[in-house]
Amino acid sequence: MYHRTETRPVKVGNIQIGGNDQVVIQSMTTTKTHDVKATVAEIKRLEEAGCQIVRVACPDMRAAEAIADIKKEVKIPLVADIHFDYKLALKAIEGGIDKIRINPGNIGRREKVEAVVKAAKERGIPIRIGVNAGSLEKRILDKYGYPTADGMIESAKHHVGILEDLGFEDIIISMKASDVRLAIEAYQKAAATFRYPLHLGITESGTLFSGTIKSSAGLGALLAMGIGNTVRISLSADPVEEVKVARELLKAFGLAANAATLISCPTCGRIEIDLISIANEIEEYIATVKAPIKVSVLGCAVNGPGEAKEADIGIAGARGEGLLFRHGEIVRKIPEKDMVAELKKEIDKLAEEYYRK
Ligand code: SF4
Repeated sequence: MYHRTETRPVKVGNIQIGGNDQVVIQSMTTTKTHDVKATVAEIKRLEEAGCQIVRVACPDMRAAEAIADIKKEVKIPLVADIHFDYKLALKAIEGGIDKIRINPGNIGRREKVEAVVKAAKERGIPIRIGVNAGSLEKRILDKYGYPTADGMIESAKHHVGILEDLGFEDIIISMKASDVRLAIEAYQKAAATFRYPLHLGITESGTLFSGTIKSSAGLGALLAMGIGNTVRISLSADPVEEVKVARELLKAFGLAANAATLISCPTCGRIEIDLISIANEIEEYIATVKAPIKVSVLGCAVNGPGEAKEADIGIAGARGEGLLFRHGEIVRKIPEKDMVAELKKEIDKLAEEYYRK
């Protein structure tokens, strides 16, 4: 699959965004950032789920001051989400933040922008410019009448121009909109306009169910065009769910190199086992497996082995038992009650083999 690699590489902590064919998974905490204990606990859950970079809201000085303490406790790079107040940006940078999300055009007087850019440059911290269809500048809305992709590009150019004029180029851009078609158009235009990496997201996309579909539709279309260097799925749900959706989405495009995939059948009248609960249990089990293993769970043996030839390991239901197969070849029979446990053991073995390589 084509992937847009000719973007400027930008380092966020120890992670490179852009300049390669990787797509980095991000999420955002829901805790009050000044509550260090709760924020660190949530970040650890996100990290465990596969989140690679995490953003925290930084609405006030208490939050900005907490960043130094949070940084001491977490491994993945931390991003501070700041609106308008340059003092919060300076405090976050002083606290060791790895990236800030702030729109330079909203900071105010030039000296304030210069102070932020100088501090970010000294510490090698990139800045994400977050253009959002819902908060475009008034002059742009007056010009275009309503949020459009061209208006969003104009806004992005304005903010990018301010940073470039100050010799700052460690920039990442997002062009979020809650309207999927608008977001797709805006990101396509951004990819054609800027050489900076793009952070993808469909903002305010909804609940776990509807937001997953909207985000996957929008981000999927963009990833299929090779656009996007980082992703965040925005859901009105536990942020761990955002990471799970992001991982699954990247897997679908072959962009999550070290992730296990589940193939499971839709079930039909031929079903011989309690496939839905087995598939759910195995899906949860492989969620944290960091090896490219394909696991197949099928309801019966009629088409089972044939349908799952691509799988490294799998189970097909038979009456009161399951057939364990590798690459479409039956290896042995397993009683129904032991199927899940045996399949997990086989997955562990394959993962171990992969880790040893
Ligand atoms: Fe039906 Fe068997 Fe196919 Fe599942 S694998 S959909 S149970 S025929």
